[in-house]
Amino acid sequence: MDAQKHHHLIIDIVIGILIIIILLLIDLFVVSFRSLSGEVREEALGKGGEGIEGEEGGEVITDVDKIQSGEYVFIPIFNFHHIKEAPPEADEITMSYYVSPARFEEIVKSLVDNGYQTVFVSEIVNMLQAGDKPKDKIMAITFDDGNLDYYTNARPILQKYNLKSSLYIMTGVRGEDFLSQDQIVELDKSGEVEIGSHTVYHPFLTKISTEEMDKELAGSKKQLEDLLGKEITVICYPFGFYDENVINAAQTAGYQAGLTFDQDAWQNSQELMALKRISVYPEMNVVKFLERLEKEK
Ligand SMILES: [Zn+2]
Repeated sequence: MDAQKHHHLIIDIVIGILIIIILLLIDLFVVSFRSLSGEVREEALGKGGEGIEGEEGGEVITDVDKIQSGEYVFIPIFNFHHIKEAPPEADEITMSYYVSPARFEEIVKSLVDNGYQTVFVSEIVNMLQAGDKPKDKIMAITFDDGNLDYYTNARPILQKYNLKSSLYIMTGVRGEDFLSQDQIVELDKSGEVEIGSHTVYHPFLTKISTEEMDKELAGSKKQLEDLLGKEITVICYPFGFYDENVINAAQTAGYQAGLTFDQDAWQNSQELMALKRISVYPEMNVVKFLERLEKEK
């Protein structure tokens, strides 16, 4: 090979290498540009929870945060009865209604640590009625029967973690183990608590006459409204018993939502009169329970 040819070969190799480098750079540029526009596309779809500004500066509305018709939304509503040690003579079923204060604190702390924020039941109802999907992990904590140990044992723990709760009161049942009228008024005024109805005398609503049902539903609603000076919109069915007649009577009485013991957390805006609740028993691992429910839909 003479010197001239050798020189040409070296130039050819150098040019070849330069072309390969340029091609690689172009490829790199295209890939990074694609991923960048991918991010922009995600933003435009509102994955960050917000719309983007349109050309005219107006907001582009997306349906990402709206509940579609018939769609189920995961909103756990927990239920407790007593926050105190179970009486020593209690049988197994009775014991399941008693969660000790220490255990109650563990349970609420595990939910808070898991990112759950509390809302009142009426806030869930408003959200479902408006078709707005919750932006954060939300839950409601409910207490049935208006037991005094809510005031003495549950409330200090809820205050420690700054948690809201919803209480369901039987207006015709009084006694030293129950919240007094003054305490109910105080709790309502505190802003920490929402009060709802648990009927007058806690009957099986499915087993009484229509007249009695009306008295239980409308009567308790009016008594609480007179006491608190505000509208009562949520009924908590005693023993979780309800059927089509109970739902109709509750709606006629003016309730917007009903609470059951149907053990689930998937709520539907078309089933406001039968919202699901999770009964919490002392040994329950609520976080694991929620994870299992969430996978089920
Ligand atoms: Zn009850």
